[in-house]
Amino acid sequence: MDEPDIVDAVDADDAFGVLSDETRIEVLRALWDADDREATFSELRDAVGMRDSGQFNYHLGTFDGQFVAETDDGYRLTTAGAQLVGALLSGAYTQTLDVDTVEMADDCPRCGSSLSFTYDDGTAEIGCDDCPHVNHFLVPPGAFAGYDAAAYPRVAARYGRKFVRSSRDGFCPLCDGRMAETVLPLASTVEADDVPAWVENVPTCRFDCERCGEVVVADLGTTLAEHPAVVSFHHERGVDVSGEPLWRFTALDTDSARFERRDPVRASVTYEAGGDELAVTVDESLSVVETTIEPGTGG
Ligand SMILES: [Zn+2]
Ligand SMILES: [Zn+2]
Repeated sequence: MDEPDIVDAVDADDAFGVLSDETRIEVLRALWDADDREATFSELRDAVGMRDSGQFNYHLGTFDGQFVAETDDGYRLTTAGAQLVGALLSGAYTQTLDVDTVEMADDCPRCGSSLSFTYDDGTAEIGCDDCPHVNHFLVPPGAFAGYDAAAYPRVAARYGRKFVRSSRDGFCPLCDGRMAETVLPLASTVEADDVPAWVENVPTCRFDCERCGEVVVADLGTTLAEHPAVVSFHHERGVDVSGEPLWRFTALDTDSARFERRDPVRASVTYEAGGDELAVTVDESLSVVETTIEPGTGG
């Protein structure tokens, strides 16, 4: 697609070439660790442990301003360089996480049975042991560093929320490209074979990246959990939405999310707190068109 104001500063091959060279990665790490992410030539050479100045100079030259910029006193890490090191540290490219199933203390929001957490190949799954309720999130292994296995489900859920939030804000979580959102039945957002019949017609939000083609599908309950109407409804009933795990708001059944109309699209999702119910109605592009609160009977 056309991106008229953005020019390629270096070839993608050259940029990725940095990753193939251990010395260049060490330079990036040394700058990352340095005060203000700046260092002189000799500080960098010492940190990397390369004696030959000429050879080291050659390596620095290969950055060509991308990832590392020259300053009056030496070198500094650019924003792109910091993002690259950050991605390496996240473990997305270099690590795997080997973890057994974690049995969770939380109940399935659909049937009340127990939930469990599994992790495989960068994808976390939080699912019910007894019904088809399930959430999937892409989570890099490094996101779990510093937590006990018992905390993994909540870490994954927080990461999943970050993914949805980024998509809602219009940025692809993978490439920062522009995301476009559409409210569609679940059956038309994912491979038909994967969709059990009881959720086929549940409205979901599909985010499409215009640059890389990444597709993020999220249920309306999760997608709208941070909408002001939803946050204040919960806040007034003593619930802090930001402290609740993602799966509490999952709306993947026709009791909690449904199409009121298909043309034009009106889809509604309900939240429950303090015995009261909030219904939020959106149009095809996820704009909230109506909210109503149904008081409970004091429950
Ligand atoms: Zn269940
Ligand atoms: Zn993308």
